Amino acid sequence: MSERPRLLCADAVFLGEGPIVSDGAVIVDPRGAIVDAGTRSDMCRLHAGLHAELHRGLLMPGLVNAHTHVELSSLRGRTPSGKGFVPWLDGMLAARNDCDEVDESIGISEGVAELLAAGTVAIGEVTNTLAAVPALRRAGLVGCVFHEVFGLDGPKTVARVEALAREAEALGLLDDRSLRWAPSPHTLHTTHPLAIEAMARIARDRGAQMSLHLAEHPAERWALQSGTGPMVDWLERRTQTPREAFRWHTDGPILTAKTLGLLRADVTAVHLTDAQPHELDLVAESGARVVLCPRSNLFIEMRLPPLLAMRRAGIEPALGTDSLASCPTLDVLAEAKVLHERFPDVPPEVLLAMVTSYGARALGFGSMGRLVKGTRPGILLVEGAPPAGLDAARHALRQPMSKRHLLVSASPNDEA
Ligand SMILES: [Zn+2]
Repeated sequence: MSERPRLLCADAVFLGEGPIVSDGAVIVDPRGAIVDAGTRSDMCRLHAGLHAELHRGLLMPGLVNAHTHVELSSLRGRTPSGKGFVPWLDGMLAARNDCDEVDESIGISEGVAELLAAGTVAIGEVTNTLAAVPALRRAGLVGCVFHEVFGLDGPKTVARVEALAREAEALGLLDDRSLRWAPSPHTLHTTHPLAIEAMARIARDRGAQMSLHLAEHPAERWALQSGTGPMVDWLERRTQTPREAFRWHTDGPILTAKTLGLLRADVTAVHLTDAQPHELDLVAESGARVVLCPRSNLFIEMRLPPLLAMRRAGIEPALGTDSLASCPTLDVLAEAKVLHERFPDVPPEVLLAMVTSYGARALGFGSMGRLVKGTRPGILLVEGAPPAGLDAARHALRQPMSKRHLLVSASPNDEA
């Protein structure tokens, strides 16, 4: 391998934040670390003597899919769409029940292959079983493993939390710096507060990001505020937990999260589709990270997250695909594309940041997702020069997945 840095030039470069650099260039060393990035003329002047590799299209950091469940990948096309959360949940569990280990393993392999084909370098994997971890590791993906727990029985659920570290240790996850493990509650209305507290303590002691589905749908608010409604009926039916056995919170999801000490920068709140503007202000003030999964919300509830209100509140959300049980693909740039179509006034550079630098921040991997000196975020080429009249960011959002190529792979080991 050549020891000289590569000078990658393209019609445009997106650094992970800020404006697109037209006629840009990125210099990268043989280990994949960024040396410099900017306009092609500046890079050629400042780093004279490097051979230029010319590419048509847009260069950007590798993609971050900040919320997914790769372990559910065998469920693609096997769940009901547009009927609301509870029917979807029943369908998802029935389909999962029909899958054996071979189906699950094939699904995971195909899911990981799809992540790589999309240009993904980092993921937030929510998992009950850790089943996808070996495949994610073999693929060289980095990110967070959010080991999910639910249950309304306090002592039983706390005992489950205490058992998690042994399962993680068996896979070598406790010392893994590339895939960072932390226990994570499923939701506030399906997880006992004592177990949530225990998980938060473990995650903080490890210095790891924790994840939480929050304000995903109206039935969640209903359950939390009054201990009634379709989610509570479902919990009673499926878990045989009498509703009286659980101490319902009486506040909505965001206030409940605040009361439980979960609105903080090391907690990633996923969805917020049902959050009200004043609740979004609380989230923004707290610095809690936010991930949206718009295609999953459209699939299950036929609604979109309140992106414009979030931006007004000052939230910079990341994007995730959720699982193939509620999303047609694991391509996170397709999430940005859907938002581009539905919210045409949101600048395309912001949508690209949502799948790069905002995603990296949501996972606590601050040096991924940006083409910054010394970091190794991977370099993705979205092939094809924009036609006249269309800017490079919009063009990149519209290009099919087959036009993406990871020119340089990522590594989390040079944290800034
Ligand atoms: Zn999810």
